[in-house]
Amino acid sequence: MRYSGLKVITEGLFGNKGWKPAWRDAAPKAEYDAIIIGGGGHGLSTAYYLAKNHGMTNIAVLEKGYLGSGNIGRNTTIVRANYYMPGNSEFYSHSLKLWEGLEAELNYNVMHSQRGQLILAHSDGQRDTLARRGNAMINQGDDAELWTLDQVKEFAPYLDYAQTRFPIYGGLMHKRGGTARHDAVAWGYARGADQRGVDLIQNCEVTGIDIENGVVKGVQTTRGAIRAKKVGMVVAGRSSQVAAMAGMRLPIESHVLQAFVTEGLKPVIDSIISFGMGHFYISQSDKGGLVFGGDLDFYASYAARGNLPMVEHVMEAAMTLMPMIGRAKVLRSWGGIMDMSVDGSPIIDKTHIDGLFVDAGWNYGGFKAVPASGWCMAHLMATGESHEVARRFRLDRFRTGHVMDEEGTGSQHNLH
Ligand SMILES: Cc1cc2nc3c(=O)[nH]c(=O)nc-3n(C[C@H](O)[C@H](O)[C@H](O)COP(=O)(O)OP(=O)(O)OC[C@H]3O[C@@H](n4cnc5c(N)ncnc54)[C@H](O)[C@@H]3O)c2cc1C
Repeated sequence: MRYSGLKVITEGLFGNKGWKPAWRDAAPKAEYDAIIIGGGGHGLSTAYYLAKNHGMTNIAVLEKGYLGSGNIGRNTTIVRANYYMPGNSEFYSHSLKLWEGLEAELNYNVMHSQRGQLILAHSDGQRDTLARRGNAMINQGDDAELWTLDQVKEFAPYLDYAQTRFPIYGGLMHKRGGTARHDAVAWGYARGADQRGVDLIQNCEVTGIDIENGVVKGVQTTRGAIRAKKVGMVVAGRSSQVAAMAGMRLPIESHVLQAFVTEGLKPVIDSIISFGMGHFYISQSDKGGLVFGGDLDFYASYAARGNLPMVEHVMEAAMTLMPMIGRAKVLRSWGGIMDMSVDGSPIIDKTHIDGLFVDAGWNYGGFKAVPASGWCMAHLMATGESHEVARRFRLDRFRTGHVMDEEGTGSQHNLH
């Protein structure tokens, strides 16, 4: 079924009885050409591009819960291409270009809104660093503007310009940055993959990986054994656990990251604002809620919920930056399990086991990576070669020392 404005109107007129499920509820077959473990954003986009770009349709996505139940439906939805380091820079640039055509590509409204991201500078040194980051972004072909204090004041009059502890000196505006509706991205890719014949199998947890003589043969699941010539581990916060099924120890720790949303308010914040002196960023959803987040809870955990000290820390940062937020009521908060790599950059690579691939280490920035990660993982699984924009996301860089130490969220790289 093709979605369109006309379809919405005609369905509305006739009682909305003609809508069909967006994907089939597939049962597992005994064998596939390829299996993707994990039905999050990255797993679904990998399946979609395997089918679309490489013509591989005898594939299955195995998801232990329901599609979109992981971090793809828990993040704060920020999409940007403002990374500094070679490797990350070209990858996220490619991803943003894919985002810009995604709704037309998927025939699905993912509510991608390029409302701009402004990172604030609170010292001369920080402004210099933002200038350097902006130059790197422009060199990569993306957009960046170094804004003066007056420009920032005009754009975001609700910030506290009178405070002396963290005075605002200016900022870096990335106008093509923005937000998207997170779970719609999973649903859009799921629908697109299903239309191309991919089996999306929910409530199917992978419990073991079958390997014979160094070659992957398939997986064990809660719905039986499934054979496959190629297996991709795309399980974000569970990467270490799934890799352990293949006897691998990844350079990844799982940590909790929390997010918060307030009651719906009239439009007040029409972009994304990132505080330069603490890990705090905020935007406003289309429903009116202020959506914001901060730092990790800083302990390894598989519990998808956080603790109060980080709640307090995030609220303090919010009040420092924009005291008006103290009048808003926080409605909900939640946590997600982040696959934190040692250098803050991802891994898209083969493993030492023939036919077994890994896509992991997305830290707290993997939502924006969903299109390019799927694109590059599909390329790797189909051709056996790394895609050119993901060439540096090698697993062995932690052994050889070619790490890419980039936080990518604040004003200063190399401070991960
Ligand atoms: C609070 C929060 C805020 C964030 N904000 C942003 C942001 O603003 N911008 C940004 O770019 N990124 C952000 N992120 C990060 C981003 O959400 C993640 O990096 C990204 O979603 C991870 O990839 P994924 O979508 O594939 O993960 P997931 O959706 O977690 O997918 C992994 C899937 O694997 C499944 N799985 C695990 N083990 C198994 C198994 N054994 N068998 C079968 N299935 C299995 C899980 O159930 C899950 O559905 C944020 C994350 C959080 C938690």
